[in-house]
Formats: sequence, C-alpha cells, structure tokens
Amino acid sequence: MPKILYRSTNRNSGLVDFKDALFKGQAPDYGLYMPTFIPRLTGKEIESFNGKGYSEIAFYVAKEFLQDCIGGRDLRLLINQAYNFRVPIEKIENNLHVMRLDRGPTASFKDFAARLMAGLMHHFSKKEGRKLTVLVSTSGDTGGAVADAFSGLDNVNVIILFPFRGVSPVQRMQMTTLGKNVRTLAVKGDFDDCQALVKQAFNDRELEEFGLTSANSINFGRLLPQVFYYFYAYSKFGRGNAVFSVPSGNFGNLMGGVIAREMGLPVEKFVVSVNENYEFPRFLSSGIYKPIEPSKKCSSNSMNIGHPSNLARLIDLYGGWLYDKRSGSGKIIKKGILKQKPDMKMMRKDFASFSITDKDASETIKKFYSKYKSLLEPHGAVAWCGLEKYQKNSKIGLGISLETANPAKFPDEIRNILGIQPKIPKSLKGLGKKQEKFEVIGTDYKDFKCRLMELNS
Ligand SMILES: *Cc1c(COP(=O)(O)O)cnc(C)c1O
Repeated sequence: MPKILYRSTNRNSGLVDFKDALFKGQAPDYGLYMPTFIPRLTGKEIESFNGKGYSEIAFYVAKEFLQDCIGGRDLRLLINQAYNFRVPIEKIENNLHVMRLDRGPTASFKDFAARLMAGLMHHFSKKEGRKLTVLVSTSGDTGGAVADAFSGLDNVNVIILFPFRGVSPVQRMQMTTLGKNVRTLAVKGDFDDCQALVKQAFNDRELEEFGLTSANSINFGRLLPQVFYYFYAYSKFGRGNAVFSVPSGNFGNLMGGVIAREMGLPVEKFVVSVNENYEFPRFLSSGIYKPIEPSKKCSSNSMNIGHPSNLARLIDLYGGWLYDKRSGSGKIIKKGILKQKPDMKMMRKDFASFSITDKDASETIKKFYSKYKSLLEPHGAVAWCGLEKYQKNSKIGLGISLETANPAKFPDEIRNILGIQPKIPKSLKGLGKKQEKFEVIGTDYKDFKCRLMELNS
C-alpha cells in the first residue's frame, strides 16, 4: 500500500507524514491536515469484526493509517492501554440504540481521542529522545481528558489554560488534582482569551526550544481514534445500513464517523445534531454558510460553537473549500469564508441536520427517563432528539445515538429536570477530597510567557 501523507485544507502547505501532522497539529498555512487518501476495508474484513472486542477492532482500523510509522506490537500495546474501559451499547426500542462513550477516566468521550493521542505522542518523542510540552486551552472537557491521558508520562510536560470562572467545579478538579507533570493556569478571562495566549505562544520563535505541541481538537491524531467506535458499534449488529446521530460541536466526532464510512462502513445517514448553534443545518438546507457569533450558550456546553473547526475538513471531503481570512501575523480577520461550494447534493444525501433547543433537550431527558428508565445528559439528549426528528420522515433500519458524557457531570441539570441525583461513576468519586493546585494569571501575554518559561526550566 502507498504511504498515507497529509495535506492542508488550505492548499498552501507541503505534504507531511502522520508523525509531523501529529506534532504540528495545524498546518503552517493554518489549514487542517487531511489524509491524501483514505484506506478502504473490504466487506469481509468489516464482517470479521463481528463479536470482536473494542481493542482488537481499534487496532485493525488504526494500523491501516499507522502501519508505516509504528510497529504492530507497539501499536497494539498503546491501544490496549488506551481502551481499558467498557463501551456499552444500550438497546432502547426496536432498532434504536444508545452507545455510551462516557466510561473513560474523565467520563467524557474526549477520553477516546486524548488517550491514544497521548500514547502516540509519548511513543514518538521517546523514540527520538526529545522532550515535549503539551500546551492546551480548554473550555471544559478537553482539558480534563488531555491532562489525565498525559499524566505521569515521562519526558512530557502538560500546561493547561482554562477560563477561571468558565468551567464547572467537576471539570476544574479533573484538571487541577493530578499534579506531577500536569500544570494548570486559570486565566482571568474567557475561553477566547485562553486560546489567544496559546496561539501566540505557538507563533513565538523564542519558545521553539521547548517543543510546544498542541493537543486541540484540530489535530488529526485526535480524529483517528474517533473512527474506531463507529466500527465497534456496527460490529454488534453486523448487517444493514446504520444511521448514526452525533451530538456535534467542533464536528470532530462526526468527522470520525465520516472517515469510517469512507473506509467502507455501511452508513445510510449521519444525523448531525446540534444545539441552538444552527450554522450547519442552515448551511445544509440553504447552501449559505455563516458562523454564529457570538455562539449561543446552551446546557450542552461542549457544543456551544458557532463555527466548528472540523467543518473545513468535511467541506473539503465534498470538494469545497472553507477557510478563515487572516492577517500576516495569523490573526483571524473574517471567519468561515466559503471559497468553493462542496457538492451540496451529495451532502444532503449523506447528512440530515437538526438544531435542538435547550427546551427540547430537557424535554427529551424527561421523556427518555420516564419511558425507558434510562438517563441522558444534555449532549446525548440533543443527539437522541435529533434521531427522533429524523425518524418522523424516514425509516431507520439500525439507529445508533451517541451519548458523549456521563449524566453525573451535569448534576444540577439532571436534578432540575428530573428531581433525582445521577449516580456518580467511580472515575468521578473522591474528586472533591483531592488537593487542587492551580495558579491564577491575567490575560497579558508577557506574563504568561514568563510563567511558561519558568515552568519549563
Ligand atoms: C466535545 C464534546 C462534544 C462535541 O464533540 P465535537 O467532536 O466537538 O463535535 C459533545 N459532547 C461532549 C460531552 C463533548 O465533551
């Protein structure tokens, strides 16, 4: 098989291999890395997954992309270490199911991507004897998953920036109680301030010696691990065409599913379920792309995104070109310019998309609980509600709705809607008893840079 290389969606950077795409994160022309081709599995291979365990399927799919840069034994080991938790698929009604992606160590589906990405980064940097500083800004779940995934690895420093008052107490404690190689900075500002500091650091030549690496959601290394669970879900049924409903924010989860389909997974439709940030459903129906600014604040807070970064990849795959206009220094001047329209007819055939209001999401949590005696949290409720809306006009042979967080991460919402206290999983128990450690900083870049250099020396 020819080697898979990675090109930028902005078409103005050279090809790189997987390892470069992993450590660079974003292409130098600010585009997102896409594989030059997507390997295809035969129907027989996909059929052979039936009855296999998660790690085995993940390994089989991963090696299609990674066999030219990591040995089979090493990859198998990393995958076994990353996926040491259950992935339950719950039958809800007839052909409809919920796949629960919330059993990882931080109780959010971000664990799937963060854990393998951390393993791969650690593997490559160790082999080359280089030290690594992972710098991330987070608005919630990413920080905890990344921190946990890198915690305790030698040769790696992790520095996480989060908005001081912008994350929930559980989310904060998941980042600040790990200690060791994980440092946290609480920024007196919002998520955009955190992101601005991180971006400036990446463009700062004086910081090059620290080997800064991003672990944000645009990294292809975080996309690949999100392909596996679609194959796993399908393997439990092993026939027909599936409809997946994906609760979407930055569209990384969705993009993982689309890659699975490109690899040969029989998918009839992706239901792209978004909250009140409706830029994608509007685009799908009208062909007009306009970011929502500022993004709407909904209870499914990890999906409060008005301009999903992975949309550039999705539109690229359908022959279009979406980009942000930037100044010479890289600052974004205008977001979301559609320079070339994708094949809209094809997109409408492959996707259905619904914007779910907060009111509909909480109604869904209530109805789902009373009808099926099972709990959804706000993100999973958006997905389930999207699947129901789709079903009103279409027949579903096999429907799988993705639940991306544990209800116990949203105790206030669940209590307000249902009057009950969600059961706390082991991973979230005892967090409040652990010692928190973080520093509060302002939004000034010079101060931040000083702190960064101290932490790295
Ligand atoms: C990040 C996140 C999402 C959105 O996933 P994307 O890949 O950004 O579309 C959905 N639910 C939860 C709980 C998340 O943490």
